[in-house]
Amino acid sequence: MDDPFDSYPQEIKECQQALMNNDPAAAAAKIQEYLEKQKNIPLKIAVTGETGSGKSTFVNAVRGIDDEDDRAAPTGCVETTMEVTPYLHPKYPNVIFWDLPGIGTTNFPADKYLEHVGFEKFDFFIIISADRFRENDVKLAREIQKMEKKFYFVRSKIDHNIQDEERSKKTSFNAEKTLKYIREDCIQGLLKLGIEAPQVFLVSSFELHLYDFSRLHETLERELPDHKKNVLLFAMPNINREIIKKKKEAFQAQIKYFAGLSAIVAGVPVPVLSTTVDLAMMVNVIADYLLGFGLDKSSLQRLAGTTGVPYEDLLVVIRSPLALQILDEDVLLKAISHMSSTLFLMAAEEGSRFIPVLGIPAAMSLSFTATYRTLSFFLNELADDAQRVFKKALGLETAV
Ligand code: GDP
Repeated sequence: MDDPFDSYPQEIKECQQALMNNDPAAAAAKIQEYLEKQKNIPLKIAVTGETGSGKSTFVNAVRGIDDEDDRAAPTGCVETTMEVTPYLHPKYPNVIFWDLPGIGTTNFPADKYLEHVGFEKFDFFIIISADRFRENDVKLAREIQKMEKKFYFVRSKIDHNIQDEERSKKTSFNAEKTLKYIREDCIQGLLKLGIEAPQVFLVSSFELHLYDFSRLHETLERELPDHKKNVLLFAMPNINREIIKKKKEAFQAQIKYFAGLSAIVAGVPVPVLSTTVDLAMMVNVIADYLLGFGLDKSSLQRLAGTTGVPYEDLLVVIRSPLALQILDEDVLLKAISHMSSTLFLMAAEEGSRFIPVLGIPAAMSLSFTATYRTLSFFLNELADDAQRVFKKALGLETAV
């Protein structure tokens, strides 16, 4: 018979071993090591294209940063150097974007260019152009392929094209037709330059929720190695309902590890240790939910700014007492005391399957269940808030 335990990461297997050896401190350390490792998986994204193609604006938009922000990549500048600049994601510093000068500005041949920027470190390359892709873009793509790295073509400033077309065609204007035409034109150009089955994504950095940005995320997610998929997902802005749902599922899948940790700590014979550790841990986990769902003050203010929906109108649809809070143990305890007992007693079936895997005794499983239910409760509540905020800010619009 298959051992269901095989599907768990090495640290969890070692955690089980430590429990069997009656060493709860080592077991807890193993789970913590696993969770810490998940948080620090690096994702390095190279963004390259000619000056003015919209690289910096794209890097800022995907990181959820305004161009005026201190952490923003400078936009509208003329490049004169071959400096490569890393820009950290403000919420997930393990996710780094590199704004690389266009190959045409550097006079390096493609292979030397890649060597100079240190291509090995990148998970993938995004090649941006504000019109058709050119010989230089293709030379670079070929060289990236030779290095066994992935690349994606992004055709930027698509909102400009749509506006221009609308202005000139007036009554016969059809957004979908225009997009199809531009996409096809880019693909044909790349085919002619020798790129096989090119994929082109039409993007406006001012409206990531429109056009092909969702499709770009889906493609990246599909093609990234499994252990990096969630890293990308959490760093993504909430540009559609599906992303919010996927973030919720990814957070949900982690809860059993936090609950397992809480069960093991409950087994350590130090009075009140368990409650103190549980509360501190849950504060950190729920703070991650707030960041991931964009339910912190600065994310909501930015959303109000970019969509034109007043900040106060966004606040109206938020129900969780934890949204917008600077979380600490007191705030969490207060919220727990207001939890409706019916909702709180939701089944924790999925999580309870993890109890025999760890082999924790019945008494400790009480702590497991309490943590599992509390985290699941607040996760559900905050994910629902995120969906309502999305609907309020962007209507039901998804990609065109
Ligand atoms: P870079 O030199 O490639 O980094 O290009 P920038 O990001 O500095 O962008 C050059 C100009 O294009 C700036 O004025 C941006 O505001 C503008 N721009 C960039 N992306 C978009 C976009 O998606 N839509 C529109 N309308 N303008 C954009």
